[in-house]
Amino acid sequence: MRRGKIRFFSVIAVLSAGVLLTVLFQRRQEQIVYTKELFAMDTFFSLKAYGPAAERGLEDCARRVRELEGMLSVTAQDSDLRRINDSSPGEAVSVQEDTFLLLEEAVALGRETDGALDITLYPVLKAWGFTAKEYRIPGEEELSALLECVDYRELVLDKASLAVSVREGTELDLGAVAKGYTGDCLKELLREQGVTSAMLDLGGNIQVLGAKPDGSPWRIAVKNPFDGSEAIGVLEVTDKAVITSGSYERYFVGEDGRRYWHILDPESGRPAQSGLVSVTVVGESGTRCDALSTALFVMGKERAVEFWRQQSGPGTFEMILVTEDGEVYLTEGLESCFACGEDWNTERICRVQ
Ligand code: AMP
Ligand code: MG
Repeated sequence: MRRGKIRFFSVIAVLSAGVLLTVLFQRRQEQIVYTKELFAMDTFFSLKAYGPAAERGLEDCARRVRELEGMLSVTAQDSDLRRINDSSPGEAVSVQEDTFLLLEEAVALGRETDGALDITLYPVLKAWGFTAKEYRIPGEEELSALLECVDYRELVLDKASLAVSVREGTELDLGAVAKGYTGDCLKELLREQGVTSAMLDLGGNIQVLGAKPDGSPWRIAVKNPFDGSEAIGVLEVTDKAVITSGSYERYFVGEDGRRYWHILDPESGRPAQSGLVSVTVVGESGTRCDALSTALFVMGKERAVEFWRQQSGPGTFEMILVTEDGEVYLTEGLESCFACGEDWNTERICRVQ
C-alpha cells in the first residue's frame, strides 16, 4: 500500500518535472531573438524577430525586401516602375502581381483622399531634385506644365493581364506607400513561418507583429519633428503599423533661406504648406497607414480631422498630428496607449464634436 503510494507520487513528480522542463524550454525558445539590418529603399531597415522560426524568417524577409525593391524602385534598372516610366504613351506594360496590387491600392487611396495622395507626381518631384538629390526651386511655369500630366485617375490598370499604361508625360513613384506595403508583406511572411513576435523598423516606419514575447505591448517612440534625436512620446501597441510622414525627413534649404521638403501638394506642385510638421498614423495595414500619413500631411489639420471622423469599420486608424507651433493633436483611440512628454501641449480629437 505504502509502496504503491510512493510509486504514484514518484510518477507525478517525474511528470511534473517533465512539464516544467518543457515549459522552460519553450520559454527559452520564445526568448531567442534574431536581428537583421539592411539598407534598402533608400533607408535603413532593422528587423527583429523572436522564437525558433525567427532566423529563417528574417533571411526570407531580406530576400523579399530585395525582390520588392527590384519591382517598385523608380531608379533601379528594369524595375516595373522604371519600365512603366520609360514606356511610350498608352503602351501596356506587364508588371508583377505585387506592383499591380500596390498600384491598384494607391489609386484607390488617391480617390479616398481626394487626390492628396497622387502617385503620378514623379515628374514634379524630379523637378525639385528630390530623386537625384540635386535640389532646385522650379519656376511657376515649369510647375504648371508638369502638373498637366499629374493625375492618378488617368492610370490604366488591366487586372486580367496585370498590365499598366500611362499617358504622355506621366510617370509614377510609389515612395509614399512602398515601405508600408513592404512591411505588410514581411509581417505576412513571418506569420506564415510561425513567428508570433517581431518588430520591423523600415526607416522609422514601424510595423509590429503580435506583442513582445512576454505578452506586453511594444513601446514605440514618436519622433520630435523639431529635434530628431528626441521623442514627443511613446506609443504602446500590439500588431499594428505606426507610420510617420514629416517635413523634417527630407528637405533642402533654398537660396532664399527657406526650407523645401519632399511631401508635395498635388494641387500646387510645391512642398505641402499645411501647417503640420508631422503626421503619425496607427492602424492595421501598413500600406494604408503609409498612404494616409503622406495624404493627411498634405491635407492639414482641419481636413485630416474631418477625414478621420468619416472613418468607420475596417481601415479605421488613429493619428497624432504635430503642428508648426508645436501643438500635438491626438485622436481619442490613442489616449490610453500614448504617453506624451510633459513639455508638449496635447489636445484630444474626439469622434463626436
Ligand atoms: P512619405 O515619407 O511616406 O510621406 O512619402 C514621401 C514620398 O512620397 C516622397 O519622397 C515622394 O516620393 C512621394 N510623394 C511626395 N508627395 C506625395 C503626394 N502628395 N502623393 C504621393 N506621393 C508623394
Ligand atoms: Mg507615406
